[in-house]
Amino acid sequence: MTTTKAKPAAKPKAAPEAIDRPPCRCGCGDFPKGANSRFIPGHDARYHAAQKAADKAAAS
Ligand SMILES: [Zn+2]
Repeated sequence: MTTTKAKPAAKPKAAPEAIDRPPCRCGCGDFPKGANSRFIPGHDARYHAAQKAADKAAAS
C-alpha cells in the first residue's frame, strides 16, 4: 500500500500588510501613502512649524 503524500505547494505568506516605512515625521503616528513620502500631505507644515518653535525656544 503506497500512499503518496503530495506536498502542499509552499504558499506565499499572506502577511498582514506590513508597513515597512517610517511613520509620518510630524509624530502623528500615521503612515504616508507614498513609499517615498516622509509626511502625510499637509503634515510637513506642522513639522516645520514645530521645528521653528523648537529652534526659537532653544535660541532664547
Ligand atoms: Zn503627521
